[in-house]
Amino acid sequence: MKNCSFCGNENLNEAKREYIYQQNGKYLQVRDVPCFECEYCKELYFSSSTLKQIENEFSSVHSGNKIIDKKIIVPTENFNEIQL
Ligand SMILES: [Zn+2]
Repeated sequence: MKNCSFCGNENLNEAKREYIYQQNGKYLQVRDVPCFECEYCKELYFSSSTLKQIENEFSSVHSGNKIIDKKIIVPTENFNEIQL
């Protein structure tokens, strides 16, 4: 990783951030995922092996092979329900 592909900044710092994997209306939130963060625009860069691990974990969780007891409840709305 040389520089940020969004803003061109060369300072990318190691960080641990949340990643939310989503497929067919199902979600998996993973916390403390190692990544690089652009110092300027805060864009996050995750390695392909990290993303593959999360994808595999998503499959395990949603096929019922792995039971996760921590869950979050997320409010949801359509945009036209939001009063401007
Ligand atoms: Zn950037």
